[in-house]
Amino acid sequence: MKITVLTLFPEMYENFLHTSIVGRALARGLAEVEFVQIRDFAPGNYRHVDDTPFGGGSGMVMKCQPVLDALNSVKTDSSYTMIMSPAGKPYSQAKARELAQKEHLILICGHYEGMDARINAHADELVSIGDYVLTGGELASMVIMDSVIRLLKGSITEGSADEESHENGLLEYPQYTHPAEYDGVKVPDVLLSGNHAKIREWRILQSLLLTKEVRPDLFEKHELTAEEAKILKKYEAEE
Ligand code: SAM
Repeated sequence: MKITVLTLFPEMYENFLHTSIVGRALARGLAEVEFVQIRDFAPGNYRHVDDTPFGGGSGMVMKCQPVLDALNSVKTDSSYTMIMSPAGKPYSQAKARELAQKEHLILICGHYEGMDARINAHADELVSIGDYVLTGGELASMVIMDSVIRLLKGSITEGSADEESHENGLLEYPQYTHPAEYDGVKVPDVLLSGNHAKIREWRILQSLLLTKEVRPDLFEKHELTAEEAKILKKYEAEE
């Protein structure tokens, strides 16, 4: 997979690209990341990429020409183009899975008050990483790159992403490691029992209960499997 990032601040990615799973995946050649400096496409000595908004208002808006010339310099028929925007569709694990299948991702990072709205028609979608406003799209693009790169075959141990939060629409069950007792707080007995059927049942139940408590919106949407329904029913009968 190739990922092209259109940005005014490529230096923000330095550590990110060389650290942990992303760093190892790139070193192994599982993905290739390139940067396009949008300012290189702005004309004149001052290379202005922004201008004042029509209709008035505070701040500056990124102009069509430098962004679209930068985009056209890298876009091919196999490219999938996304604009980072707080007004985009909410990003999700399901979207990360979808993007991990793409041949070429182009991520466009806005700055200032955002970009001229006419640029939107040149992208496949606008994506938001959450209901808050960042200074620029760079952190959002790193979130997307991280979540996609770790899904590429060979990035992390096969299957280890499958049980993580959001993979099946639920939050992951709580995890514990050694020691079995810390500061007087014990790991649940079932996890030390060696009984794999009971451990599985406990994990499914905890995942359901945690999601119901912390993310009732996800729990409402989740269609219980037959196994989950049985475990929940048993728990409710015991309560
Ligand atoms: N005036 C814009 C608005 O109210 O929607 C906000 C612009 S923001 C300060 C500058 C840039 O940061 C945006 O163009 C976008 O690229 C990026 N950005 C900010 N918040 C984001 C979010 N939640 N998700 C994705 N990108 C975001």
